[in-house]
Amino acid sequence: MTSSLIPHPSSLTLHSSSEAVGLRIHITGVVQGVGFRPFVYGLAQRYGLTGWVCNTSSGVDIEADGSAQALSDFATALRAELPPLACIDSFDAAPCPADSYTAFDIRASRAEPGAFQPISPDVAVCADCLRELFDPADRRYRYPFINCTNCGPRFTIIRDIPYDRPLTTMASFPLCPDCAAEYGDPLDRRFHAQPVACPVCGPRLWLERPGDDEEVAAGDDAVAATRTLLRAGAIVAVKGLGGFHLACDATDAAAVDALRRRKLRVGKPFAVMLPDLAAARRHCALSAAEEALLTSPARPIVVARRRPDSTIAAATAPGQTTIGIMLPYTPLHHLLLERAPDFPEALVMTSGNLSEEPIAFTNAAARERLGRLADAFLLHNRDIYTRCDDSVMRVLPGGDAVVPLRRSRGYAPYPVRLPRPGPALLATGAELKNTFCLTRGDYAFLSHHIGDLENYETLVAFEEGVAHMERLFRVRPEALAYDLHPDYLATRYALERAGREGLPAVGVQHHHAHIAAGMAEHGLPLDARVIGVAFDGTGYGDDGAIWGGEFLLASYGDYERAAHLRYVPLPGGDRAVREPWRVALAWLTTTGLPWDDDLPSVAHARALRPDAPAALAQQIARGINSPPTSSMGRLFDAAAALAGLRQTVTYEAQAAIEFEAAVDNDETAAYPFDYANGIIDPAPLWAALLADRRARLPLSRLAARFHNGVAHMTRDVCRHLRADHGLDGVVLSGGVWQNMTLLRATLALLAADGFTVYSHRLVPSNDGGLALGQAAVATATRMRGEG
Ligand SMILES: [Zn+2]
Ligand SMILES: [Zn+2]
Repeated sequence: MTSSLIPHPSSLTLHSSSEAVGLRIHITGVVQGVGFRPFVYGLAQRYGLTGWVCNTSSGVDIEADGSAQALSDFATALRAELPPLACIDSFDAAPCPADSYTAFDIRASRAEPGAFQPISPDVAVCADCLRELFDPADRRYRYPFINCTNCGPRFTIIRDIPYDRPLTTMASFPLCPDCAAEYGDPLDRRFHAQPVACPVCGPRLWLERPGDDEEVAAGDDAVAATRTLLRAGAIVAVKGLGGFHLACDATDAAAVDALRRRKLRVGKPFAVMLPDLAAARRHCALSAAEEALLTSPARPIVVARRRPDSTIAAATAPGQTTIGIMLPYTPLHHLLLERAPDFPEALVMTSGNLSEEPIAFTNAAARERLGRLADAFLLHNRDIYTRCDDSVMRVLPGGDAVVPLRRSRGYAPYPVRLPRPGPALLATGAELKNTFCLTRGDYAFLSHHIGDLENYETLVAFEEGVAHMERLFRVRPEALAYDLHPDYLATRYALERAGREGLPAVGVQHHHAHIAAGMAEHGLPLDARVIGVAFDGTGYGDDGAIWGGEFLLASYGDYERAAHLRYVPLPGGDRAVREPWRVALAWLTTTGLPWDDDLPSVAHARALRPDAPAALAQQIARGINSPPTSSMGRLFDAAAALAGLRQTVTYEAQAAIEFEAAVDNDETAAYPFDYANGIIDPAPLWAALLADRRARLPLSRLAARFHNGVAHMTRDVCRHLRADHGLDGVVLSGGVWQNMTLLRATLALLAADGFTVYSHRLVPSNDGGLALGQAAVATATRMRGEG
């Protein structure tokens, strides 16, 4: 991270040569719990300085005495040689008179009321700890909770700040003399490593059966017994860093099918964990950027292209050419996946929950809720304070840009910097893939993944998450921001709380929030105005319609809807989302195209019930439960249905995901759209798609022509808006932009046309990034309101 607050060393005007002078430094950022003080201590030794370093509630303070040259070198090294997990946001240095220190000390932490600092996300086990884990001579040999200042749990075990052991879930494990010695030695890798532990004093592991609290095995025997079960095709609930996984042999089709049945998950892909990079390369075609992401300290799930000869069961990711893979990130994972000739090379590691409930993270909840899903539980007694799902990332094909799909473990709650400090706010996010966002100063703390706010359990997780992060970052919101959809639980929470606490509440239109999220993460200035292309499935529009194919002229504080996809009725509302054939036939009706009997969507309807097509025609004609929509997600669904790909879906965006997987990348033709007076009409697209189908062109070419068509249309409408309004910055946001084929094609077309394009790199383009945009809009609105 760069910061204008960091002075160049030459700007530190200190007295000349060998005379001792002083330097006082205040550093903010992620500088606690990451080995920063030992690092400072080591540098002070190297340059022969005296003085002290101290954690405060707002960062790290240093006072150092020495020669001007030594101090200058010290200040340079501080920034150049940062410990792997540290991240400096601001660095303020000022000369001061030399004191009479005789040594360099690490002083006790100082708490300042109300002060706060960013908290490190959880970090994958480091190479040093891994070496010790498999070293028979090490006292932590095969100990599944080994960690040090450079790795291990952070956010998930922290109850409060400052980040000290008594305020984490490690408080119940008093240090043994050996661990205490390491913890207290400034030159040790475990100096002040709060979760430090060993087999003598730390957490323990055991295996039990559902409905029976008796331990079947403990410690390394529990790992061995778990591996025996997995080898035999069993499903085991494994307690991890931020919650439970359900694990099974990913190369065993019967085991994967059983997991699908028990989890009530029909088609959605499962994530797979592989023991190492060599295995990942064998199952997926990986770019250098994908390998870097897989092995990064955050260890996200990376959606990568699956090799045709991979032995991972097809049922792991049905209908897809990609698969979400990750590498082990805890010592326990490394033990569990340790290579052996007869042990599966890939394990399904999917979130431990039933259907759409939040992921289980306590032993009690796992026993209660996962009992019917798992054949055994691999448990431990290090409590998880905050549940945190695995993050999911992609790399833009043909480049190295990271595209976040879900930002959670390993990233949250690391803040995004806002373009300027504003009032403290809480933005409550959307309904699906909910995250919320707290702001303080110019920090925007986007939460971990909460999930789909559609049930009581998830609402409780949301409320607990909000309370926890307000405490951690010492934020009392002065205003709330919410989505305009009146039925979202996040909206109701915001309005009820605003009423109860007498706080102002700012309603933010869904697609405006998407575009503002893109602007904020790219640090666009306060007076920026862009063409915002917001493509998604569903967002509540100003006119009560369901928007989702929108071109906005947007600043942080305002927007104007400049163009949108033509409205089509959505017969059956939510039902039409699960049954794309309905949207397909609605589009044909709107366009005036006949429902020919040979069309797959018509055939599907007739197969359901002979009078189903007539009933749907009536529903559309009379407008019964048929809200108008300009949704781009539904346009993809309708195209996939008319192309014959699928007529119903089992999870959101399934048709679009499979349509993308079908694309023939060598096809260059594009289906046309009409555009006039701000209305984008796909009428010519439907005519061309149906003609291609009748000409028996393969699905792969229809899919490609559709994707190319949407990309060309986007470029063309942006051209119109640039000509009319003089804007050439374009922000692409909304869940549809997680379609890599569409994103890549559109980025290329817009760049070739001279546009400056901003697409998401830090937060997801889907509703998982929405709260950041809500916060950015509400900040602008509040600042304006206050003059
Ligand atoms: Zn380590
Ligand atoms: Zn110990």
